[in-house]
Amino acid sequence: MASVTIYTRNNCGYCLRAKELLDDKDLNYNEINISDEPDRKDEMIERSGGQKTFPQIFFDGQHIGGCDDLYHLEEKGVLDTMIENNDSNSSSNEPEHRNVIILGSGSAGLTAAIYASRADLNPLVVEGEQPGGQLTITTDVENYPGFPEGVEGPELMDLKKDQAARFGTDFVTGNATEVDLETRPVEVTVGKDDYYTCKSLIIATGASAKWLGLDSEKEYQGKGVAACATCDGFFDQDEEVLVIGGGDTAMEEALFLTKYASRVRILHRRDELRASKILANRARGNDKIEFLWNTELIEVLGDGDEVTGARVVSHPDGYPKEKWDNNNDSVDVEELDCNGIFLGIGHTPNTGIFEGQLDMDDNGYINTGEEVETNQEGVFAAGDVQDTRYRQAVTAAGSGCKAAMEAEEYINQLKMEEDSSGTDEKATATAS
Ligand code: NAP
Repeated sequence: MASVTIYTRNNCGYCLRAKELLDDKDLNYNEINISDEPDRKDEMIERSGGQKTFPQIFFDGQHIGGCDDLYHLEEKGVLDTMIENNDSNSSSNEPEHRNVIILGSGSAGLTAAIYASRADLNPLVVEGEQPGGQLTITTDVENYPGFPEGVEGPELMDLKKDQAARFGTDFVTGNATEVDLETRPVEVTVGKDDYYTCKSLIIATGASAKWLGLDSEKEYQGKGVAACATCDGFFDQDEEVLVIGGGDTAMEEALFLTKYASRVRILHRRDELRASKILANRARGNDKIEFLWNTELIEVLGDGDEVTGARVVSHPDGYPKEKWDNNNDSVDVEELDCNGIFLGIGHTPNTGIFEGQLDMDDNGYINTGEEVETNQEGVFAAGDVQDTRYRQAVTAAGSGCKAAMEAEEYINQLKMEEDSSGTDEKATATAS
């Protein structure tokens, strides 16, 4: 059995997800929680070659990276080999058939699972790259009905998962890597070679954080550049940080970072926030937060090991770029000192594997109708993967509920058609 060490900290959704996968693999691991043992932080950074994000995971002393790296190994089938449990975990090549398969385990997916399992459809949830979805990397959720004092995102998702499991939902760790939505039953491949079929498919694969696409941003990811303040803000004790974006995510990240950082500067490309009033006002009222309007990050600066600053351009003529691109007199390029840069510029839907099989809009969001149906019969989509407007945990839950009820209806309809064609055949046989 491999010897596994995982460095974690409290309230870290990625740490929970990584541990969940290790638990699923029945692995014992040595957990070093830096919130309890802060003086081991440097040890982690040194062992991981300078990584400052949580978790950091080691197999037999060898550094394998963070949560995404662990799931990547799982997806490629390499993890099983590493932990020498190929025999017990090896899958047969015969597909397992289900009434309903739900792709994604965020607010939409788990709500669909609660409803589908209560309808005795024994659904299978393919948990995806980020079990629990975006809420596992968020701070207090204050607007989910039923929690007057707010609730931690990971806690809310754990409760939903328990509720779905209670009624008979099964879960499989990993990502759907291929789907055939044209065949009936629908075919789904999970990871390298776990095959499933189902009568009805619910797609709730959510959306992932956007990046600016700068080379320097990539170079310093995990070394000061991050898209999750709750996961990585801890490293910026008494330091200066930048947050990019003008929406709710950016406000939330900035507010969270004030717990640790000495100064938080929000860079927004326009001079007007997109964020909701309540979060915008909270950020405006926080002494540690400053706004840099009409300003964009153009390069992350660093010493190779960590972020030391940012090159930014401010363009008082405003956004979009075309307004100031040809008027260099009004553009200022300057360097700002900072140790952390947090991206809060929105999300892209996780719909790559459905391309060519489902109707989508120009940004890759799945087109659905009133009943969350897609253009493929029996295939429904719920949550952020199809919602370009509301994108809230509660609206995702609502559409997950709809998807499960529609899937149930569809399966009942199929059964009625099968029964009636059986009756017709019997009648024809009797008549002849
Ligand atoms: P968002 O509302 O789309 O905001 C993205 C922000 O990033 C915008 O201000 C946008 O600027 C900026 N941006 C986008 N691309 C950029 C680029 N390439 N360079 C610089 N800036 C860029 O996304 P979000 O903040 O993630 O929120 C998504 C949804 O989730 C919203 O419905 C929000 O209400 C919800 N949400 C709610 C909470 C909460 O209630 N606690 C928390 C987080 C998110 P422009 O404004 O110029 O377009």
